[in-house]
Amino acid sequence: NDTVQAGACTPAAGEYTSMRLWNAAAFATGWPTRPVTGQKRALVMATHWNDAAPVDPAPVEQATLGAGAPSLRTYLQEVSGGSLSLTGDMLTGVDLGARPAGCESAAILSAARTAARARGVEPDAYDYLFVDISRHSACAWEGLAAMPGNWILSNGVGHKTWMWTHEFGHSSGFQHSDTLKACPAAGSVTTVSGACTVSGGDDPTDTMGGGGMHLYPVDYRQFAGWVPDSQVPRVTATGSYRLGVLGESGTQEFRVARPDGGFLSLEYRRATPPYDDYVATDPLVNGVIVRIVTTGGTVRNRLVDATPGTSTTDDAPLAAGRTLVDEDADAAVTVCSVGAQGADLRIAVGGTTPPAC
Ligand SMILES: [Zn+2]
Repeated sequence: NDTVQAGACTPAAGEYTSMRLWNAAAFATGWPTRPVTGQKRALVMATHWNDAAPVDPAPVEQATLGAGAPSLRTYLQEVSGGSLSLTGDMLTGVDLGARPAGCESAAILSAARTAARARGVEPDAYDYLFVDISRHSACAWEGLAAMPGNWILSNGVGHKTWMWTHEFGHSSGFQHSDTLKACPAAGSVTTVSGACTVSGGDDPTDTMGGGGMHLYPVDYRQFAGWVPDSQVPRVTATGSYRLGVLGESGTQEFRVARPDGGFLSLEYRRATPPYDDYVATDPLVNGVIVRIVTTGGTVRNRLVDATPGTSTTDDAPLAAGRTLVDEDADAAVTVCSVGAQGADLRIAVGGTTPPAC
């Protein structure tokens, strides 16, 4: 965040062809992280108000601590590459007393902690507290979590694994993602510019943006300490680049700096059931997923629809033979080919014409 001035920076029209204001930590090393690794334990409570019947705890236990898929436990095991292990204990049939008129999350959590202690269980001895309550119309959410934080409230949907993966994402510092759509396209080139439009969560590969329980994107994994910086190189020179398959060996992500301190994120994933349960021909696993990422105390993704000719984001990745130009970054990416081993890329930085495939 220092100011660097080169030469006499008072150009007159015609003396320059391209100018960008860059505002970034120019000499920072490494990427921001907030590690969520090692052995973590959760206390999972199936609770009800005294005007409601106790919930069947078995589906809640399966969706959280279940040893088989789908469960938050097996999801985290896979998405972290074994870096994060979640186990814990269940408390079932917990009566939280009278149903509150409103939806005060702190009061609900406090009631749950008190009820746990009445059962002889100390909730603060766990890394996380997960509380499923009876469906409560005063709570305008399915799930709720602090960001980052160590508790999750479920509004009677504790049997839905996607809710846990979404809220656990918030706990880990992942914000809701959104989408950059309708960028100008001509021929095989899509251009990220001020002409694109932003819309709400519509990333079918991101559980933080409407993507069900698909596995977390690569930048979340780096932020959580599951992918080392050595597998997340910053692209600083124009050339040829080989992007590996997400969750396997090799480069997991290429990052191209943007002037606001964020970066373009390039990810390539294949079908890996049960969570990434795509069919082999799905465009989502046959192109390079491009996101604009801002990171710091939390991380936030914006999916770029690199195929803006269709109204859907189900084909958002940059397919083989196509180029994405980012005017702000003064950079461009061409996908030459994709296959079972990875994606072959050409990336230009300091210009918007990548080398030929
Ligand atoms: Zn959310």
